[in-house]
Amino acid sequence: MATNRTFTMLKPDAVEKGHIGAILEKITASGFRIVALKLTQMTTADAKAFYAVHKERPFYGELVDYMTRGPIVAAILEKDNAVEDFRTLIGATNPAEAAEGTIRKLYAASIGENAVHGSDSDDNAAIEGAFHFSGRDMF
Ligand code: ATP
Ligand code: MG
Repeated sequence: MATNRTFTMLKPDAVEKGHIGAILEKITASGFRIVALKLTQMTTADAKAFYAVHKERPFYGELVDYMTRGPIVAAILEKDNAVEDFRTLIGATNPAEAAEGTIRKLYAASIGENAVHGSDSDDNAAIEGAFHFSGRDMF
């Protein structure tokens, strides 16, 4: 995958609250092209693997329960400087610390339920995109 791509998930809380349309509009209005997109639900095994880097953290069980409790929207996005620019667009992990106008400031309730995921590196963007999509579903 090219390094001008990132991967995102609109997390279960954002889907439950009916924010899919508003968040996708903000993403595309910010210059990201949708390369791949789907509504799906992570299994416990999926979420444990996806967030394995956090397995020693005290919130890991809570994180896995949260990420599997309902559907998510998974997407691959393209833009120059995609990973960094998307992290700027979503804001800080804790919405209380997120900048005005960011997706987490607008739509996240707490550090645990923070509405959206954004890859933290080009390598992880490629790994995470491939976790959810096959090549024939990337456009
Ligand atoms: P993400 O990887 O989902 O984009 P992030 O990179 O901003 O988020 P990470 O440090 O990777 O933050 O944490 C992954 C996720 O774990 C967070 O988005 C959040 O849902 C949860 N999390 C992180 N820190 C805490 C915490 N202190 N308490 C509860 N949940 C947390
Ligand atoms: Mg992260």
